[in-house]
Amino acid sequence: MSRIVDEWVSRLKGKLPPIGEMTHWERMAAAMRLERTDFVPVAPELDYWQITYAGYSHQEIYHDVDKTTDACIRTWADLRTDAIWMYVDISHQIENFIPAERRPHHFIHRGEKDYLMFRPLAATLDEAIAMYERRDYEKYLADSRAVTHYTPHMLQLLEFQEKMDRQVPVIIGLATPTNYAETIVEVQNFQKWMVTEPKEKVRRYLDLCLQERLAALEFYREHAVGNGAVFCCLFGGARTWGPRHLEAFADVDRIFGEAAGKIFEHVFWHHCGRNLPGALQMISEIPGVRGVQYDMPYYGQQVTWPEWFEQAAKIFKGRQCAMNAPTTQLACHGSADEVRGMVREFIDATLPHTTACVMPGCEIDSFSPTENVRAMIETARSRRID
Ligand SMILES: [Zn+2]
Repeated sequence: MSRIVDEWVSRLKGKLPPIGEMTHWERMAAAMRLERTDFVPVAPELDYWQITYAGYSHQEIYHDVDKTTDACIRTWADLRTDAIWMYVDISHQIENFIPAERRPHHFIHRGEKDYLMFRPLAATLDEAIAMYERRDYEKYLADSRAVTHYTPHMLQLLEFQEKMDRQVPVIIGLATPTNYAETIVEVQNFQKWMVTEPKEKVRRYLDLCLQERLAALEFYREHAVGNGAVFCCLFGGARTWGPRHLEAFADVDRIFGEAAGKIFEHVFWHHCGRNLPGALQMISEIPGVRGVQYDMPYYGQQVTWPEWFEQAAKIFKGRQCAMNAPTTQLACHGSADEVRGMVREFIDATLPHTTACVMPGCEIDSFSPTENVRAMIETARSRRID
C-alpha cells in the first residue's frame, strides 16, 4: 500500500467530471477491440514529459519512486488523457547487465529535462554475446533500477488503476528482443554488424535476447498482470529493420509479440522511426497485437501525411487500432495549430478503415510545450464519432 497513491485516490475518486459517455478505460479498450467509441481516444506517450510537467527534474526522480508516480498521476489528473504511461528510461531496461560500480560511467544525466544519456554496454558483438551467455542480467539484477525503481513504480500505478476502479488504464512498457539487441550495443553498431558479421553470430545474439525476454514475460505475468495490468506497449526494435534485416531476423520479435499477446489482453506495438511498410505488415500479422503505434514513412517514400495515414490504416484494417499523430517532432517544435491540423488529418484518414488512437509515434519530448500536448487532447475531444 502506498501513501502517495492513497492521497491521490482520495483527492480524485468520484470527483472527476465524466468525459463523453465512456470511461477512459472503456474508450481505449473499445478502440483496441475495433469497436465504436464516443471520441477517438488520446494517449500520448508522456513518460519523460510528465516528470517536468509536474515540476520535477529528471535527476530528482531518478531514485525517488514516489515522486515518479506522483508526476504521472498529477499529469493525468490535469490533462485526463485516456491512459497513463509509466515513466520508463533506458537504465530500467539495461542497468542490470552491468555491476553497480560501472553504472555511473554508462548512465549520465545532463540537463534537468534531458534524456538520460547512455553509453553502450558492449563494444563488440562477441562481448555482447558473452554478457548474455554468462547471464549477467541475472547477476546484477537485485540492486538495479529494474528492481529498485521500475517495479515499485509500476506497482504504485497499478494500485492507482485498481483503486480508481479501472477508470483509466496504466500502460506497462516493455522492450522486444530486437530493441534489446540494439540498445545493449547501440543502434548504429548493431546495424553495421548485421552486415559485417557472420549471419549465424547475429542469429545467436538475437536468440539469446529472445530467451531473456521470454523469461522476463514470466515476471510480467506475475507482477503486472497479477496486479491488474491489461494494457501493454511493446517497444519494438524497428530502428534496424531494413528490407533484408526484416526477412532475416524479425522472427524473434514476432515470437515475443505473440507470447506477450497471450499474457496481456491489450498489447500494442511501438514502432519507432522510419517505418518500412513491410514491417508494418509483419507487425499487423502478429496474433494478439491489437494496436500499432507507428511513426514516419520509410526513406524515399514520397507520400504526404494523409496518404501515409491512409496506407497504414489499410494495413491494419480488420486487425489493429492505428495509433499516431502528431509526430514527436511536430509536438515539440510545431505550433498548436499545426498539431491540431495533423491530428485531424490522422483521424480523417484512419477512421474509414479502422479505429484510431491519438498517440505520437514516439514519446513526447520533455521540451514539448504544454499547449501542444493540450492541443492534441482537445482535438480528439472536439469531435464526436458518428
Ligand atoms: Zn520510440
